[in-house]
Amino acid sequence: MFNAADCRERGWIPLLIDVHGHIGRIVPDRREFIDPANLIAKMDAWGIDITFVLPLSEHPEGAYLECNTEDVINACSRYPDRLIPFCLIDPRFGNRRDMDFTYLLEEYRARGCRGIGELLPKLDFDDPLCINLYRQAGKFNMPVLFDMQDSADGYGLRDDYGLPKLENALKKCPDTVFIGHGPTFWAEISADVPEESRAAYPKGPIGMGGAVPRLMRTYPNLWADISAGSGYNALTRDPAFGIEFLDEFQDKLMFGTDSCLRSDVNIVYPNIALIRDLRENKKLSEEALEKIEWKNCAELLNLKV
Ligand SMILES: [Zn+2]
Repeated sequence: MFNAADCRERGWIPLLIDVHGHIGRIVPDRREFIDPANLIAKMDAWGIDITFVLPLSEHPEGAYLECNTEDVINACSRYPDRLIPFCLIDPRFGNRRDMDFTYLLEEYRARGCRGIGELLPKLDFDDPLCINLYRQAGKFNMPVLFDMQDSADGYGLRDDYGLPKLENALKKCPDTVFIGHGPTFWAEISADVPEESRAAYPKGPIGMGGAVPRLMRTYPNLWADISAGSGYNALTRDPAFGIEFLDEFQDKLMFGTDSCLRSDVNIVYPNIALIRDLRENKKLSEEALEKIEWKNCAELLNLKV
């Protein structure tokens, strides 16, 4: 066990921001996460200084119980130095392509929310309802953190092979920053995505020419977090490629966990193990590491640290 202060004293991991955290009973047996003190304890154990907390409950595909935007804002208000809220708006709210979300965005921004997410409705990525929300988020300088899973059921935005719908949204909403996340997004780091693995965790060497590197190279408004099993898998399935990817996109990648369980504290969470390995074994430059660990996130989400 260690904590953030110890880490800094040892000159190790000077600052770590998790851009992708959660609270609440995301599934029924996760009752322990009702109290945000448990999230703080986990952050201390893992050396995470600040977590952006993402609501999930505004979508019927998301989760119920203690994890809507109000819950998140309340939890963050108890630890204002450690927890910062995102808000979540379902693009289907109002069910109109020109629904005006201004009053929601104004209120959420005034109450400290720095972005929108985790956006995961089962809609096409460029559905007109989504485009309407993305555009308005951009006007409020609120990045949109999304989960993409190309399955018919479950949760997550849908796209086709090569991510043409994401590309369409990037073109149509140049003033909106998108933060990529989720199995289908990360499967497309490779050019060769087996159909059966598009919503899962493909293994083996990366095929050059994947949609994610192409889109990140082409569109300044596409960023990504490296959280969850999907981010970890994408960056470790072909270790040499993973390092090259982190180095090339060091200005647009952000550390994250997506840990939903207090009991995760008892394991070496894969995304924590990854960032420690990069640092301890000097696999990336100090400059690139600092950007991914905290600087990019602080800059994008206007955080004074
Ligand atoms: Zn998440």
